[in-house]
Amino acid sequence: MSQQERIWIDPAEVERYILELARHGGDGTGVRRLVYSPEWVAAQEQVASWCREVGLEVHRDAVGNVWGRLAGTEGGPSIATGSHIDSQNPGGRYDGALGVIAGILALRALRERYGQPRRTIEVVSLCEEESSRFPAAAFWGSRAITGRATPADTEELRGYGGETMAEAMRAVGLDPARIPEARRSDIDTWIELHIEQGPILEQAGLPVAIVNGLPGIRHYVVRVEGRSDHAGAMPMDLRRDPMAGAAEMISGVIRTAQEMGRPAVTTVGRMLVEPNFPAIVPERVTFTIDVRHANPAQRDRLHAAHEALLRAVAERRGLGLHWEITTDLPPCPADPELVRLLEDVAREQGVPTLTMPSGAVHDTQRMAEIAKVAMIFVQSKDGRSHTPAEYTAPEHAAAGIQVLAAALHRLAY
Ligand SMILES: [Zn+2]
Repeated sequence: MSQQERIWIDPAEVERYILELARHGGDGTGVRRLVYSPEWVAAQEQVASWCREVGLEVHRDAVGNVWGRLAGTEGGPSIATGSHIDSQNPGGRYDGALGVIAGILALRALRERYGQPRRTIEVVSLCEEESSRFPAAAFWGSRAITGRATPADTEELRGYGGETMAEAMRAVGLDPARIPEARRSDIDTWIELHIEQGPILEQAGLPVAIVNGLPGIRHYVVRVEGRSDHAGAMPMDLRRDPMAGAAEMISGVIRTAQEMGRPAVTTVGRMLVEPNFPAIVPERVTFTIDVRHANPAQRDRLHAAHEALLRAVAERRGLGLHWEITTDLPPCPADPELVRLLEDVAREQGVPTLTMPSGAVHDTQRMAEIAKVAMIFVQSKDGRSHTPAEYTAPEHAAAGIQVLAAALHRLAY
């Protein structure tokens, strides 16, 4: 194929869409848009009306995901793009929202310039990616699409306010019994555009990245047991101090991830000390370890190194050690051919990119259960996200959408 024509996406237009969507749940420079809230309903309505303006057939599925469809002449499975419009509480204007807007603007550009595609292209605005209203319902929208949400779940899942998922769905006119209808088995390719949420692109001075994999994520809850003693009367050499052990374990696992290098990340974000008084050697220290890596083999090495270190410290110090793994999602490699295609079209479009793994988890990880997947990242200012300080320059966003549109063109026309 000869050099592809450049696709023009107007940065000012991207900015206008972002600001317009941010009016729903707007809070300073951020948004609070929790799934099934009035702000979220209004934002989904906005997305639906943009899709109609662009000439897409609009459909709201059983969990409230909004789909816009540009039917192809050939039929067959769809190529889909999109992201989520629910936010952290509060979150930024760009997380998720930009990926939905990107899909709409890419389809508009393609339809205006090239007309009807050969293959069907769809854009979707997914619900409750963030689990900001229902803590155990992350990826609720994409779980429904991939058949991993059930009507029974809606009675179990509770929001921070105590309400069930079923109650929240019914309040916006959705029937939990129909969740299985949201399942899709006719999507074969998925490309999600998202803000990077980290500093890599900014440090490299590049607008866009092609994402070649998403991290596996594992959560450990580690309990270290020692013996409670008087902080003055018990000599150091006779103590079994779980705090001393936990401190050594924590600095050890963090150092291990540091030494392994990017993209390994290990975080200890929560700690519970019992009895938690200044003049008592604690009886027990419990802490979490969040471990992420995009490469399956490296990830196994990281887990093994962490576990060996915990055991060695506990044994040397005579401490009891127990752990529980509460979350364990495998890494999700992107489809290598799709990554190559994205790299190719970016080059043809004159958009400089680098190829990197994602640090964060995304709906794409779920969509990988039914489709070939890849992602496009655009630069995040100062690497900030999940805060109203989140910002992506319009020209960087537009460059990412240009790559998305060119990829959809290559695949569907
Ligand atoms: Zn997101």
